[in-house]
Amino acid sequence: MTAPAAERLSAVRADISAAEAEMGRAPGSVTLIAVSKTFEAEDIRPVLDAGQRVFGENRVQEAMGKWPGLRTEYEGIELHLIGPLQSNKAKEAVATFDVIHTIDREKIARALKVEMDRQGRSLPCYLQVNTGEEPQKAGVSPTEVDGFLTLCRDEIGLNVVGLMCIPPVDEAPGPHFALLEQIARRNGLTGLSMGMSSDYEIAVGFGATHVRVGSAIFGHRDYPA
Ligand SMILES: *Cc1c(COP(=O)(O)O)cnc(C)c1O
Repeated sequence: MTAPAAERLSAVRADISAAEAEMGRAPGSVTLIAVSKTFEAEDIRPVLDAGQRVFGENRVQEAMGKWPGLRTEYEGIELHLIGPLQSNKAKEAVATFDVIHTIDREKIARALKVEMDRQGRSLPCYLQVNTGEEPQKAGVSPTEVDGFLTLCRDEIGLNVVGLMCIPPVDEAPGPHFALLEQIARRNGLTGLSMGMSSDYEIAVGFGATHVRVGSAIFGHRDYPA
């Protein structure tokens, strides 16, 4: 019997392929990040067994608890940090993750660079953009991204590959995805981390290169994270 999560994974993959075809995107141009936050190793294994290797977690501490073990069981895992980061966790974040999506402050950018140099790991990075300019939400304001990118890429020396956003929950996501794409294009960035369970197909239409899908694969989360 196929595990429910593995079945849902196939369905999400099929949806992404269909959206790629429909939108004239090249097959395989969108990477699926399976967001496993709040789920235990035993819930994640069926998805690994189904061939998924790219995962996202939003807490450094939680990821440290389950991924080092899973990495010894499965080869080729690529782990993305998609949640807020504190500079005092930079060391652990650099040691645990392969890609960072949530850089939005100079202090974090500098702390990550110091750790990457120390650990000899140059991780691909995304800058998080607060496209809805929501006061409670992380991310750089769209008006400040260009300057922040220059700081992170040219002055600090981070390997910035793209932009990430989380649109406001109560708004149509399309305009936010379009804005992120526009900011990326004018800055020569190709990576676009956008789209979650409720809107990943829309995000593919707006050029997402990475969609972050949690509950549509793993099911409902019992506690907020
Ligand atoms: C939890 C989370 C996701 C996945 O959310 P779902 O709606 O469960 O797909 C994507 N991105 C970020 C930043 C998240 O924290």
